Amino acid sequence: MEEKRILETEKRIDGKAIAEALRGELRGQIAQMKEQGVTPGLAVLLVGDDPASHTYAHSKRTACEALGVYSEEHFLPASATQEEVLEQIARLNADERIDGVLIEMPMPQHIDAAAVLGALAPEKDVDCCTPVNIGKVFMGTYDYAPCTPSGCMELLDRSGVELKGKNCVVIGRSNFVGKPMAMLLMERHATVTICHSRTVGLAEITRRADVIVSAVGKARFLTADMVGEGAVVIDVGTNRDENGKLCGDVDYEAVAPKASLITPVPGGVGPMTVTILLRNTVRSAQRRLKKA
Ligand code: NAP
Repeated sequence: MEEKRILETEKRIDGKAIAEALRGELRGQIAQMKEQGVTPGLAVLLVGDDPASHTYAHSKRTACEALGVYSEEHFLPASATQEEVLEQIARLNADERIDGVLIEMPMPQHIDAAAVLGALAPEKDVDCCTPVNIGKVFMGTYDYAPCTPSGCMELLDRSGVELKGKNCVVIGRSNFVGKPMAMLLMERHATVTICHSRTVGLAEITRRADVIVSAVGKARFLTADMVGEGAVVIDVGTNRDENGKLCGDVDYEAVAPKASLITPVPGGVGPMTVTILLRNTVRSAQRRLKKA
């Protein structure tokens, strides 16, 4: 039992500890910037009353406070018009205290979310949602990449995983997780396969992978028979199991013995996402400082 525990601790990529290390680095950078008269600022814009979005907005504020990042929350009612939302975006674009703006999704149905994202100044788009910034990720010329895939890259890098020439499989092709994840891996010279719900023979593909990133959103989706010996497994999924307990996409207990490294849920990718958002905000503020 003890042996199993030690083995699994060695294999576990501790996202909480890695996020804390990164936040420690950011604290130092923020302190230096404050000495030069600049405090990084993040605004969160939330339209409507989606309870999960309110929880996420709150957690971002707490994270900002812990690092000394100035934060603002802007709540608009579900009845807000497209014009009102765009006006708020324009105000945030022009606000010099704000280096980054995060727009919580989903928006109420009558709002054209793509138009709202398109109105955000790309240099303040620290969550990398604007078409301009997503395009830059595609071209490899980006300032910010989407937070969750960036967080996965940081976990891989800080765990010493070499990606060059490796066979990486990303399960999921969403615009803000699966697709940019594949781009970031490819940029590091991995050979990348993107799988999705219409992929035929998924298990055969994943079994050959050196690195699997699962971003599906289904509890215990990735089972042990889908994973080859020694694979690195990154679990992006955030799901609830049959008992309402938070879990990822990966059947952790069964997959961990085969994996060389694996992220748990909770405590894997999750803590990295907000940390990368803060890092991007700090980078944006550093650019403001250079311009001053
Ligand atoms: P999404 O937009 O729903 O995309 C899910 C992807 O999974 C789709 O591309 C879908 O394929 C694919 N898929 C569904 N069933 C499949 C199957 N049977 N076989 C293979 N692929 C299948 O979700 P998302 O926004 O990318 O998020 C994915 C998961 O990550 C969710 O659990 C989400 O909560 C979590 N997440 C976590 C964080 C974090 O910070 N930890 C951040 C963002 C998201 P099709 O395209 O063919 O439909």
